[in-house]
Amino acid sequence: MERVPCRPRSHNFPQTKFGVKSLRFNPSWFNKYDWLEYSIDKEAAFCLVCYLFKNKDDHVEDPFVKNGFKGWNRRIGLDKHVGKFNSVYNQAREKYDALNKPKASIQNIFDYSKKEDMNKY
Ligand SMILES: [Zn+2]
Repeated sequence: MERVPCRPRSHNFPQTKFGVKSLRFNPSWFNKYDWLEYSIDKEAAFCLVCYLFKNKDDHVEDPFVKNGFKGWNRRIGLDKHVGKFNSVYNQAREKYDALNKPKASIQNIFDYSKKEDMNKY
């Protein structure tokens, strides 16, 4: 997994008018949603997991996958993207986790702490 999420936290996120309110992307969403990416090019949010692993035959009409999410007034859209257990996101997530898992397997953590113990003595 070479691709890391694009997260320009210090970017000057442009404001968009929603009725009387002007809202913008909130970088703290990066902390809650580990799949979230922001494209400065498009000034929109995307989903890394779907980008990498969605079924290529799926024509997904989802802003996080297609043209980018800009509904800063509809934060619920982020939870909606995750959706139910059989959502496009969760199917992609399964593949994503399967590839990422080996690094954090219990065996590795065990080996690591053993090594640390040995260094102490
Ligand atoms: Zn997704």
